[in-house]
Amino acid sequence: MSRPLGVILVYHRVESRPRDPFRMAVEPERFREHLEVVCKNHRPTALADIDRGSSEPGNVALTFDDGYANVLHVVSPLLLEYGVPATFFVNSSAVGSHDERFWDRLEQAVFDPERERLEFEIRGESVAWSLASDAERERAFREAHARLMHADVADRESVLGRLATFRSFSNREELRSLGEDELRELAGRPGHAIGAHGEHHLFLPAHPLEMRRRELWNDKRQLETWLGAPVSSLAYAFGASDSETEALARELGFDCALRADPQPVTREATRWAWPRIDAASLTGAELARELRRHLNHAE
Ligand SMILES: [Zn+2]
Repeated sequence: MSRPLGVILVYHRVESRPRDPFRMAVEPERFREHLEVVCKNHRPTALADIDRGSSEPGNVALTFDDGYANVLHVVSPLLLEYGVPATFFVNSSAVGSHDERFWDRLEQAVFDPERERLEFEIRGESVAWSLASDAERERAFREAHARLMHADVADRESVLGRLATFRSFSNREELRSLGEDELRELAGRPGHAIGAHGEHHLFLPAHPLEMRRRELWNDKRQLETWLGAPVSSLAYAFGASDSETEALARELGFDCALRADPQPVTREATRWAWPRIDAASLTGAELARELRRHLNHAE
C-alpha cells in the first residue's frame, strides 16, 4: 500500500445528548479538541482536495451526514472559527420535514418509559420486543433498527407512522432537519460544500438497481435545483455500497463517493469507494493518535 494521502472523518451532530445509542453526537468541547488536533498536526482539507498535494503532514477532511439543522447552528460557526472546510451530506426528502429521522423516531419510541413493548409487522412478519429493562430497550433498539435499515421507504414509513401515534410522541427541536433556506445558507458559507446522501437514506445494496438509481439521482437533482450549483460528492447511506452501486455513482456524475471503512485514503483507492473514519467516540488525544497512525507519522 502506498503512503496514505489523507483521512476523511465523519460526524453527524455536535451536542451533548443524555442518550445516544449509536453515538451520533459529539460534545461541543470534544469537537473543539478535534478541530485543534486537525489544525495543529495536519492540513484541514476540502473533500475534493483530499488526494491532492504531498502527503506530509496529511490531509484531513471533515464530513457531516444526514443534514440536521444542528450543522448550520452549532457546527458551522465552529468550523468558521477554526477555518476548517467541511462537506455536509443531505437526504433531500428530509429537508424542510418536521418529522424526526427514522432512527431518532425509533429511539424515542423504544426508550419511552411508558412503553412496555415494541411490536410491528414488516413484510408480513410480526416482530416484538419486551421493553422491561434498559438492557432490553438497548437490544430492541438495535434489532428493530437493523430491520428498518434494510426496508424500503413504504415499509419503513408504515412502521414508524404507527409508532409515532403513541400519545407521548413529539418531534424534538434539537433533532430537526435543515430547511430549504437553511440549506442554502449553509452552502453559501466559506469552505462549506453540500453532497448527496440518497433521497431517503436507503441501504442501497438491499434494493433493485432502478431504485438505487432513483434514490441517488433524485437527491442530486433536487439538491442542485435548490442550490443552483452542481452536487458532485456522495456519501452512501449507512456507508453501504457494492461494486454495482459504486459504478452507478460514477455513471450519475459524482466525482467521489464515500463508504464507512476505518482507513485512510490512498492514491490507489477508487474515488467511488473512499473510506471514512467515524470520530464521534474519540477524545482529542485518541483522535490525534488515530490520525498519526493512519497517516503513518512517527510517534
Ligand atoms: Zn446517514
